[in-house]
Amino acid sequence: MSDYQLNTRCVQGGYRPGNGEPRQIPIVQSTTFKYDTSEDMGKLFDLEAEGYFYTRLQNPTNDYVAAKIAELEGGAAAMLTSSGQAANFFALFNICQCGSHIVASSSIYGGTFNLIAVTMAKMGVEVTFVSPDATEEELHEAFQENTRAMFGETIANPALTVLDIELFAKVAHEHGVPLIVDNTFPTPVNCRPIEWGADIVTHSTTKYMDGHGAAVGGAIVDSGKFDWMAHADKFPGLCTPDDSYHGITYAEKFGKEGAFITKATAQLMRDLGCIQSPQHAFILNLGLESLHVRMPRHVENAQAVAEFLEKHPKVTKVNYSGLPSDRYYERAKKYLPKGGCGVVSFELKGGRAGAEAFMKELKLAAIETHVADARTCCLNPATSTHRQMTDEQLEAAGIPAGLVRMSCGLEDQRDLIGDLEQALEKV
Ligand SMILES: *Cc1c(COP(=O)(O)O)cnc(C)c1O
Repeated sequence: MSDYQLNTRCVQGGYRPGNGEPRQIPIVQSTTFKYDTSEDMGKLFDLEAEGYFYTRLQNPTNDYVAAKIAELEGGAAAMLTSSGQAANFFALFNICQCGSHIVASSSIYGGTFNLIAVTMAKMGVEVTFVSPDATEEELHEAFQENTRAMFGETIANPALTVLDIELFAKVAHEHGVPLIVDNTFPTPVNCRPIEWGADIVTHSTTKYMDGHGAAVGGAIVDSGKFDWMAHADKFPGLCTPDDSYHGITYAEKFGKEGAFITKATAQLMRDLGCIQSPQHAFILNLGLESLHVRMPRHVENAQAVAEFLEKHPKVTKVNYSGLPSDRYYERAKKYLPKGGCGVVSFELKGGRAGAEAFMKELKLAAIETHVADARTCCLNPATSTHRQMTDEQLEAAGIPAGLVRMSCGLEDQRDLIGDLEQALEKV
């Protein structure tokens, strides 16, 4: 399938039915799998044979969909997880342990920020946050002897900053660690971080990949390019025998292309069990079949909304990397030549009260804690996701009280702009 264009991979990647087999991916609604002899089963437990034994670790439906996502990102292997949070946790915890250190962009999703700064800290994993706009020298300074991974988001949610993937990858590799990039917002239709040097790519498939607000899920893709054995002292989990798997050394047995995902499946999925249900994988695949058709429309609508807002006298600032006035316009031209995503953020005159009054007047755009849906939705972080913060704290975090985040859906852009126009008129 990788010989085909990305559009074709969206539609037909991952699953190739044989003669007389179902055209659509079968939902294997079974927790377990049958074997004739204990010896057959034993080979699976020793990772000597490929096959399924229990859906907490692996299920064929999930694997078809994971294979499609690997083909879309240009990776060597992939797995699905129960959520985007689980994907980022697994990607990091697969190579970090108590005593490890992570260098992460400070401009990342709030849930991931908490995961790294609070929850992983309780596990003894330290972090240093860096600006997505840090210079090469500043990035180098953040590294420590015990750094095991670098992390960032291609387009950050909700700050909409654009990551300099090539620079982050270069610095990470100079320190002998992989770069993990959360590519949720652009999706592989608009950016493939592996082509810019990223080693591991993660997704909240809950967003554009599903695209219909129907199924929470996540995915991890391994490029298969990072040479774990060349840095064996840093990655004992991959490069020394796993006692819980009869002394298998993942990087030896499965090579650069298979070690990371095999370990995350055999060890983390076995012990932590954040598997995506086969039903959700099926729904996710329906979304993926039209991802290449939907993304350009999300971008078109967001571009039109951003341009309209920028000219409106009641709007003081618009963040969208497709606007020449945006701070990330040049970087986006390099990494996101087809556009970024459907999410725009903007500030209104009148701060928090102005934003609240405005959102109340919207008729098409619903107020939701969600983005990347076919239906347009919006949120004022100051009165919802970030309501525990004072106006001063919000300003410092780059989320002014009057900021509105709008996720432009697939409706007709004339109706979206009409909705904004009538709401702005009333405030
Ligand atoms: C939503 C989101 C997540 C978390 O994903 P869930 O599927 O909600 O667990 C992680 N990263 C980014 C960029 C997101 O937008």
